[in-house]
Amino acid sequence: MSLPAKSTSPAVILTGDRPTGPLHLGHYVGSLRNRVTYQHDYKQYIMLADSQALTDNMDDTGKVHRNVVEVALDYLAVGIDPAKSTILIQSQIPELAELTFYYLNLVTVARLERNPTVKAEIVLRGFERDIPAGFLTYPASQAADITAFKAALVPVGEDQIPMIEQTNEIVRRFNRLANQDILVECKALVPEIGRLPGIDGKAKMSKSLGNTINLGASAAEITAAVKKVYTDPLHLRVEDPGHLEGNVAFIYLDAFDPDQAALAEMKAHYVRGGLGDSIVKKRLELVLQEMLAPIRARREELAKDRGYIMQILKDGTAAAREVAARTADEVKAALGLSYF
Ligand code: ATP
Ligand code: MG
Repeated sequence: MSLPAKSTSPAVILTGDRPTGPLHLGHYVGSLRNRVTYQHDYKQYIMLADSQALTDNMDDTGKVHRNVVEVALDYLAVGIDPAKSTILIQSQIPELAELTFYYLNLVTVARLERNPTVKAEIVLRGFERDIPAGFLTYPASQAADITAFKAALVPVGEDQIPMIEQTNEIVRRFNRLANQDILVECKALVPEIGRLPGIDGKAKMSKSLGNTINLGASAAEITAAVKKVYTDPLHLRVEDPGHLEGNVAFIYLDAFDPDQAALAEMKAHYVRGGLGDSIVKKRLELVLQEMLAPIRARREELAKDRGYIMQILKDGTAAAREVAARTADEVKAALGLSYF
């Protein structure tokens, strides 16, 4: 992965999540880990995408409202530092909606319908023909979020790559129209490990699939989840050779076990036969308990001072709005929409 040189071009990172539920290990692998790492080297904006969350949650706006604080707590608990990263609330920056409105004229309905992520999500949500227009067009809103901050890097899970491609199409089209490089093309920062499967073995750990281990999970919840983790259905007796492919216990150990050398031995033993799932799961439980305990403790501590969290969000949103407003002014001027 080639990143812009820090010293010469301090890139801006834009990243975010829909506050529709607590963050989970999939988010951690997909983007949080990178955000925590890169916040030291690049200017980073992290967005709580509450407006975007409404595109499929208009019937439960209370859920989105409640989860703004919950997701902010998750960010701070995993190590997002508000002194280094600016956390903002999407709905409180009207310029993001304004930019979306213009960008919608730079994409076609056919192109939106072809977006593979949108397509998959429409199937997942069972919308069939009754797709909210806001949902179908959310890639344009995502383009607004990214370009408002002139972000060059976007740390996301691999399922978001089509969004980045669509954003860059909008950027190129707009810059061509404007006849100057006002907007900045961006690059997805995708982790090597790719997408984390759910505990049930489904391809993706996801809130809507109910197959997550949340970052704030209690010790008992972790224990219960590890018991359910999908392994190898053909590995019936301890002496049978086991399979690693699709084996979620090993996929999680690959992602989180700090002792990768011991893990390699464990894998070899499993494949040879003679190593039971219970031993593998015992290791997984230990790894996850040790990893999540400090996150949970910080989260509980931070949750005691809601005023502090709200202040971080208020300050971050105000700072971010100034940046977004500058971009919106430039975009409007380029479109001939400046009069006074
Ligand atoms: P929802 O069910 O509301 O869609 P989700 O759990 O699928 O929620 P998103 O909010 O859609 O999570 O994802 C936010 C970000 O986290 C995206 O960058 C996405 O790629 C990443 N992400 C989510 N789940 C995973 C996963 N299992 N593996 C890797 N990255 C993930
Ligand atoms: Mg999703």
